[in-house]
Amino acid sequence: MIKSPPFLSQLILSILIIGCVSFSVYGQEEYKDPKNKALNETYPGGSFYEVQNYVQPKNHKRPKNIILMIGDGMGFGAVYSAMTANGGHLFLENFKNIGFSKTYSSDNYVTDSAAAGTALSTGIKTYNGAIGVDPDKKPVPNIRDLAEKKGLKTGLVTTSAITHATPATFIAHVTSRGSYEDIAAEFLKTNIDVFIGGGIKNFEVRKDGRNLSNELKDKGYQVLYTIEDIQKVQSGKLAGLTAQQHNELMPKRGEMLVPSTQTAIRLLSQGKKGFFLMVEGSEIDFPAHSNSTPGVVLETLDFDKAIGVALKFAAENRETLIIVTADHETGGMSTTAGDYKTGKVIAKYTTGSHTGIAVPVYAFGPGAEEFTGFMENTDIAKKMMKLLRLNP
Ligand SMILES: [Zn+2]
Repeated sequence: MIKSPPFLSQLILSILIIGCVSFSVYGQEEYKDPKNKALNETYPGGSFYEVQNYVQPKNHKRPKNIILMIGDGMGFGAVYSAMTANGGHLFLENFKNIGFSKTYSSDNYVTDSAAAGTALSTGIKTYNGAIGVDPDKKPVPNIRDLAEKKGLKTGLVTTSAITHATPATFIAHVTSRGSYEDIAAEFLKTNIDVFIGGGIKNFEVRKDGRNLSNELKDKGYQVLYTIEDIQKVQSGKLAGLTAQQHNELMPKRGEMLVPSTQTAIRLLSQGKKGFFLMVEGSEIDFPAHSNSTPGVVLETLDFDKAIGVALKFAAENRETLIIVTADHETGGMSTTAGDYKTGKVIAKYTTGSHTGIAVPVYAFGPGAEEFTGFMENTDIAKKMMKLLRLNP
């Protein structure tokens, strides 16, 4: 056997280390890589699902529970493409109180999901890339922190890695969205009741050698890795990690967001003091970056079905406010042709990035009338905190 000179083996080792580090930092953001463009403007149409009508309850002025649902990158182009693809109807049509959110961040006309998520979770504008910290990099409590402090149950459901920017802003306070392992570690500092998403890697294959899944088990969490196991859970604390990183895009992912939302609501609604749940349709943004209409449509339809689950609960429970919005628009997407009979829709795009245009806000349930007209994205957090009587 030939022994390689020490400097050469050191060089190979350094290259390997740099490779691994850069993968762990940038691996979650591959959908933004122009090399992965899947430009396909036409969704050919497919099967439709039935949309139920729910009447907004009027008996309570204030909600006991809030379900915040964020379609990542879900501008009105995404919504209307999905509406066309489902024969002209979505569960979203049940929302009668509608407004617009201005999404700009503290340092950019066009926000990223980190600054936008921080605005929605804490009520402050911050710089792109910030997770739960202000422009001076100081931690700011988020609505989930405050709800937990007040004794409400709290949960997060997402299709991406649970350590990805949007869900991270409801749990962590770190200066950079790429610090996935630090974000994962922050889950252990909270008493969150339920979280479901991808990101096993950031919990179990870590530079510091910790296995956060084992630590979660020691804290009393059921740590489960498949949606089949997750949806059987009837009580207790739950950490559902269903992918190493992000879950697959639709249709490959299959039923994940709907049963996860059902499970989270089942567990959280067992508390006496109410709950705060954030549900993210994370992967609407991914195909929007690559200007793929089939991808955007299938992801938005999946998210709308999860909205249907929340509506069914809220209509019966009568003390639950549902807010649906987006953190920002992606793609500058608009529909240029469509057919409500077949569900075919053609969309055009102005960019492969996010845009600065305002996004719709849809509200249903007690307090919904607060969410009409134009508002700052930060107002959404402030209004939710006020309605739940949470003081920062
Ligand atoms: Zn994006």
